[in-house]
Amino acid sequence: MGISNLATKYGFQSFPHYSEGRSGATINKIVLHHMAGTNYDIVPGIWQTREASAHYGIGKNGEIRAYVDENNTAWHAGNWNANISSIGIEHCNLTGDPTWQVAQATIEASAKLCADIAKRHGLGTLVMGKNLFVHSDFSATSCPGPYLKPRVQEICNKANAINNGTSAPQPTSGLYRVRKTWADAKSQKGAFKDLTNAKKCADSNSGYAVFDEKDNKIYPSSSSTPAPATPTKRLTVQINGLNVRNKPSLAGAVVGTYNKGATWTLPKAEQFTISDDWVWARAPIGYCAVGRNTGKEESDDYIFIS
Ligand SMILES: [Zn+2]
Repeated sequence: MGISNLATKYGFQSFPHYSEGRSGATINKIVLHHMAGTNYDIVPGIWQTREASAHYGIGKNGEIRAYVDENNTAWHAGNWNANISSIGIEHCNLTGDPTWQVAQATIEASAKLCADIAKRHGLGTLVMGKNLFVHSDFSATSCPGPYLKPRVQEICNKANAINNGTSAPQPTSGLYRVRKTWADAKSQKGAFKDLTNAKKCADSNSGYAVFDEKDNKIYPSSSSTPAPATPTKRLTVQINGLNVRNKPSLAGAVVGTYNKGATWTLPKAEQFTISDDWVWARAPIGYCAVGRNTGKEESDDYIFIS
């Protein structure tokens, strides 16, 4: 059982939308959310139907409620890899749309809870973009809202002050940009706080490299010999709204969707999984149905392989 001593169980795991265990992942980050609502008590009841959940929720007066055991995976980040490795905290709003304010008592309690989680899971000093994130770092969402988002550094500093007895501000971390060349800004595939994610992006786009904010090419290093290329097959999604599930099965939870044109590669040798009469392929954040299991490629398959 993993629950902060600062929290009280409330509607604890009384909803279906979380996953047992951590799929082998280690907890290495905290993800902050706002409830986009001012009614603290209706959470987590809304997760009876909505395919979402979080480990904790903090009320307007600083009360902390536990909804999901930390040893289980809550569905909060909209990204399976982030979900299995994180603890998600919801913050109740004081006001509704468009300001979505959050009470100071909520912010103070959040700092205490983050400090407690960081200590118990050995996260060390909390740094935004390293081990403390917001929902919009992982999904296209306005969460944690216009009020809470600029206050996250304050939560971070206060949590570190609780654990270290210091409130030194964190240095602002630069972004790692993935481009063909630094000069070719139009070629930019993305900008990442996390170097590992930037490297992954560069790896999946041939001819691309990672540059730091001082325009140094830092990956792949020009001196290193490129690793022999693994033969790959390319998967390209043919429809909009193709579900990504956490297991290669219709029983798997939906962790996201891809639209027509989404593409990724898999090792050429990788076998697909057949389950529920569908063929399933691994995707960057889970598994997708390629098409009906007819034993051959069909023109109405959801994913074309080349
Ligand atoms: Zn959120």
